[in-house]
Amino acid sequence: MRTKIVAGNWKMNNDKDATKKLIKSLDKSIKDLSLKNTRVIVAPTFVNLSSAVKKAKKSKIEVVAQNMHQAKNGAYTGEISADMLKAIGIKTVILGHSERRTYFNETDAALAEKVDAVLENKLETIFCFGELLEDRKSDNHFAVVESQLSNALFHLEAKDWKSIILAYEPVWAIGTGETASPEQAQEMHAFIRSIIEKKYNKEVADGVSILYGGSVKPANAEEIFSKPDVDGGLIGGAALHVDDFKAIIVAI
Ligand code: PGA
Repeated sequence: MRTKIVAGNWKMNNDKDATKKLIKSLDKSIKDLSLKNTRVIVAPTFVNLSSAVKKAKKSKIEVVAQNMHQAKNGAYTGEISADMLKAIGIKTVILGHSERRTYFNETDAALAEKVDAVLENKLETIFCFGELLEDRKSDNHFAVVESQLSNALFHLEAKDWKSIILAYEPVWAIGTGETASPEQAQEMHAFIRSIIEKKYNKEVADGVSILYGGSVKPANAEEIFSKPDVDGGLIGGAALHVDDFKAIIVAI
């Protein structure tokens, strides 16, 4: 059975106090949920990771990073390495979010290097990808997704996929209030699994958790999560509100 995951991407929100407060109230509100085979993840901003890790200790919440640089160390002003993250207890890193691709010019090639650095450091990644609105309108969405995955991930060996979580996030659905329909999400997730099976094998394809992201809310989570190839969600806006995030966790 694949692991189910609800991950909150806090983006550039919440200062230190707000970070600790939100983790505390989330811990309190999900403490009594059984969460069988389900991981609950939050990704605060870099400066608050350390206090978030401490606050989440002994809770059901895992704290992960939103990004990472591929170099071990050196002259990369403003960047954060794997060693620095590991030193404060981080085990998982989000890579390739569409905001990183769009505003910080992260290319598939750069992301392939980041994925390699994640694996060399025995970390795990939540790897994000997804098509633009014009790709979907021109019926290129499958080709775009296939090229994003093959450029950044298909050089990996089958065994490496134990450390990969995928997050399909159609860019037109992120922060827009517009969600892919559950059928559109299922169709793409099944396609993703089929190309992984073609490249690797059925075991790898069936084993990888594929999250859906883009305007997931309490009102639509249950229907999206009910689809057989959707293993959870990467949640932006709704992850900033404890009641909404809890409702999404309950819907898994
Ligand atoms: P959203 O963001 O839920 O606010 O659309 C999702 C994401 O960017 O991961």
